[in-house]
Amino acid sequence: MVSRVIPVDPFDLVIFGGTGDLARRKILPGLFRRYCAGQMPDDARVIGAARSEIARDGYREMVAEAIREFGGGPACEDGTLDAFLERLEYVAIDARGEAGWTELQALMAASDRVEAYYFSVAPSLFGDLAERLQSYGMADDAARIVVEKPFGRDLASARELNRTLAKYFHETQIYRIDHYLGKETVQNLMAVRFGNMLFEPLWNSQYVDHIQITVAETVGVGGRGEYYDKSGAMRDMVQNHLMQLLCLIAMEPPARFDPDAVRDEKLKVIRALEPVEPHHIVRGQYEAEPGDEENHPDYRTAVGNPRSRTESFIALKTHVANWRWAGTPFYLRTGKRMVARSSEISVIFKDTPHSIFGEEAGRHRNVLSIRLQPNEGITLGVTIKEPGPGGMRLIDVPLDMTFADALGPEGGESVDAYERLVMDVIRGNQTLFMRGDEVEAAWGWTDPIIEGWTKRGEAPKPYASHSEGPDASEQMMARDHRKWRKVEP
Ligand code: NAP
Repeated sequence: MVSRVIPVDPFDLVIFGGTGDLARRKILPGLFRRYCAGQMPDDARVIGAARSEIARDGYREMVAEAIREFGGGPACEDGTLDAFLERLEYVAIDARGEAGWTELQALMAASDRVEAYYFSVAPSLFGDLAERLQSYGMADDAARIVVEKPFGRDLASARELNRTLAKYFHETQIYRIDHYLGKETVQNLMAVRFGNMLFEPLWNSQYVDHIQITVAETVGVGGRGEYYDKSGAMRDMVQNHLMQLLCLIAMEPPARFDPDAVRDEKLKVIRALEPVEPHHIVRGQYEAEPGDEENHPDYRTAVGNPRSRTESFIALKTHVANWRWAGTPFYLRTGKRMVARSSEISVIFKDTPHSIFGEEAGRHRNVLSIRLQPNEGITLGVTIKEPGPGGMRLIDVPLDMTFADALGPEGGESVDAYERLVMDVIRGNQTLFMRGDEVEAAWGWTDPIIEGWTKRGEAPKPYASHSEGPDASEQMMARDHRKWRKVEP
């Protein structure tokens, strides 16, 4: 199987925050892999920009190190890396002052190509960057800006940020990243739904019992404790990643696979989400790892806030109030320090209406599972006869489509989400980026939920490290006569 790589147009990409963690771990190694794949034109330029005073060669060395550490592969050693590094420039710049801006302006003046500006800096600097790009003449119609999460911390701040960016850029120039949307399987979810006749007729409350979306991490808050404690699982994961996945599962088929057609349908889903009842929410905080409390302390110790009421785990039930989904619950769950790292969406179909095999054969359900990580792939659980004599016994077996197995080493090659999304920015394709109204609608649903538990003064429940979260999360499902699917690596 031959993978098709279509080179993008020549471009200049400025990475504000070009010395930061995200640039070093994801953006620059991703660009290098696209360069190796032949997608990046030879004359494309990548310009790192941050306050640190580094010479161009020093920056190239820093990037080479980062690429070697974070997945440049064998190409690092065969001269390709050196050729890529030739594409790199660096400007010492202050988003909040005037230092460095005339140098950047001079570098970009000669550009008659695609100009992209990646805001890989703290969100508090987004407005400063946008304003200076304009005052130094770089916010022209050819410019595109890429903004990282978090996009606000509530509806009011997201609106404010949208308003600020809109002063300098049109919506068609703003690329709000949610890297979950860049994952291969997420796009495959759309291919499976809208490229096959098989599923869509069953994709509604008549046939679907319920939907589960789980994003489980094994890591704790790590070095992000201070930031995380002001945010929590609802703001950090549900408002963006889990809601985006929910939208793709629940949306109506768009008329075309184009950015606004897709985003219009996602927006309708968010607007149809019902408010969440307090007894349909479970929040938790992880406990220390027994015997290794020093390296793996409990949540409150890890964030340095002994009275913290921020959740490192949340499970909730919601409904999409429309004709397609009335009566089908959507259960969302995400947490840190859980038993395995696993992101999975499961569509659990209803029981057959009548069992011709008698009660002893048991009732079986089809489950369509879409695994985002690890081992991206899609599995359909079907019921068959257990082989051998002894009557009609039924078992469930998976029809497995792990992409790496099904498509071979080339087709199964996974392109990192950031790689794909940065190339989409250069191509000018906004389909996998969030529109301003979508982000605001998502906060509009999230805000009252957070306000509710804050007003009620509820504290999160403790849960053991390496578990599936607090017992109350299982109890929430049990009240509905359902069970969470096991979190498995
Ligand atoms: P980081 O490691 O703290 O890097 C911040 C970058 O901004 C550095 O390059 C820093 O360099 C630069 N910077 C700081 N103040 C500046 C100023 N006044 N003018 C110009 N540059 C300035 O942060 P990060 O983890 O890379 O995160 C960057 C953004 O991505 C944040 O919005 C974050 O929420 C988001 N994000 C990060 C991740 C991740 O995995 N890291 C994941 C999702 C989203 P100097 O100090 O040299 O100026």
